[in-house]
Amino acid sequence: MGISIVKNYLELKERIPPNVKLIAVSKFRPVEMITDLYGNTGHLDFGENRAQELNLKYIQLPKDIRWHFLGHLQTNKIKFISPFVHLIHGIDSFKVLEEVDKEARKNNRIMDCLLQFHIAKEESKFGFDYNEVVKLLSSAEFKAMGHIRIKGVMGMATFTKDFTQVGREFHGLKRIFDELKAGFFTTDPDFSELSMGMSGDYQIAIEEGSTMIRIGSSIFGER
Ligand SMILES: *Cc1c(COP(=O)(O)O)cnc(C)c1O
Repeated sequence: MGISIVKNYLELKERIPPNVKLIAVSKFRPVEMITDLYGNTGHLDFGENRAQELNLKYIQLPKDIRWHFLGHLQTNKIKFISPFVHLIHGIDSFKVLEEVDKEARKNNRIMDCLLQFHIAKEESKFGFDYNEVVKLLSSAEFKAMGHIRIKGVMGMATFTKDFTQVGREFHGLKRIFDELKAGFFTTDPDFSELSMGMSGDYQIAIEEGSTMIRIGSSIFGER
């Protein structure tokens, strides 16, 4: 089993351009699987979507791992990850951003964040729309947040075999990224990340300009 995780990873790495960052999504996987990948390849970027699970894994695993938080973050759970999390991909409301800023201040650090956009057809997926983010970034409240660094945007496409649609959604997210860059971050080199693409659609995401893909099952197997 250990061999296949490493093999999956190395095969995947061959298929992605070197400038695209790979986040190994280890949610619900035992720490042994993470240790296997880390120990045998030196891979450092791992993603989780539950704050308490992430906290437990952080405690048990090597401290040079860069932990990415994916998806919706409940405000009362931020404290479990705020001292160490590397990048929060799922900022989906003003309230969450405000709480992350407060927690970052308590921990005396700047928190790197991505704004999550709702680009899929499904109703259940969290995320901003464009106008909400324009409002947020223009607000005095946002400008007063001293402990947040917006690194870019994140989105999840509709779960469908219709790749034309998936491509259209990723294309839309790239446009959002470009417009925000032009409108708010022209002189800010930190605003540079477009987190899109999972096991089923990462090739399309890369074609549409992804800089970060989040891969679970293609590395660790089907859950
Ligand atoms: C689970 C998850 C992934 C990885 O999904 P796979 O299909 O297993 O590659 C990526 N992004 C988010 C936000 C997730 O929750």
